[in-house]
Amino acid sequence: MDDDQLLRYSRHILLPEIGIDGQERLRAGRVLVIGAGGLGAPLSLYLAASGVGRLVLCDHDTVDLTNLQRQIVHFTDSIGKNKVDSARETLARINPEVRVEAVPERVAGKRLEDLVQQADVVADCTDNFATRHAINRACVRFRKPLVSGAAVRFDGQIAVFDLRREDSACYHCLFPDEGEFEETRCAVMGVFAPIVGIIGASQAAETLKLLMDVGQSLNGNLLMLDALSMQWRSIRLRKDERCRVCAAGDTAQREPAEVCEAR
Ligand SMILES: [Zn+2]
Repeated sequence: MDDDQLLRYSRHILLPEIGIDGQERLRAGRVLVIGAGGLGAPLSLYLAASGVGRLVLCDHDTVDLTNLQRQIVHFTDSIGKNKVDSARETLARINPEVRVEAVPERVAGKRLEDLVQQADVVADCTDNFATRHAINRACVRFRKPLVSGAAVRFDGQIAVFDLRREDSACYHCLFPDEGEFEETRCAVMGVFAPIVGIIGASQAAETLKLLMDVGQSLNGNLLMLDALSMQWRSIRLRKDERCRVCAAGDTAQREPAEVCEAR
C-alpha cells in the first residue's frame, strides 16, 4: 500500500482485528452484488469506501424518480440511466481504486453461475423469491458464502449462509421453494427509507468480515428487524438434512423467471 492508501484506510488499519493484513484481504476480494437498489446501494457504497478490490454489480433496471427516496447510490440526474452505470459512477467518485464491473442484466442460468463461481462473497440484494432461489442454488453449487438481505414496509431481515461449510443451512432450508410463492409486487409496496439502509449496511459488515475472516459471521442466524419498535429478533437456522438443494444437491438452474429486482 502506498502512503495515500495507508491514509485512506487508516481507521481500518488502526483496528487490531483488521490491520494491514485485513485491508490487503479486502483489496484482494471480489464481491458479487445482485441488485443495485435499496439494499445494494448502501452495501456497495460501504464496500467501495472500505476498499474491496472488485465489485461486480448486476441489475437490469434503470433509475426512476420513485427510487431516489431510498436508493442512495443514485442521484436525481441519474434518472433514466442503468442503475449499475449510475452506481459505478458514484462509487468511482468515492474510491477510484475499486474496480467496478457493471452488469446491466437480469442474471440467470449459466451467466449467474459464472459470476457466482468467480466471487469470494455473494450479496443477494434482490426482492423476489425466484431470483433468491437461483442465487442460492449457484452458491450451494460453488460453495460460496451468501449474504442475504430483504426489506419491505418497516420490516427487514438479514442472514448469512456460509456454504463453504458442509453443516451450514442454505436459503432453501429456511424458505423451501415449492413453486407456490406469491411474489409481492415491488411496484406497489411501501418501503420505509432507512430500513434498506440498516439492512444493506449490515450486509456490508458481514461481507467485509467474511472477506477478512474476522470475528464471527452471522452464519446460522436470521436477524429480523421491526423498525416501528426498533426491535431485533434472532432465529437460529439449522441445515435441513432433507433439503433438496444443499442436502440432495439439486443445484441446477431453472428457466429464468419474470422478476423485478432491487427494491
Ligand atoms: Zn438447504
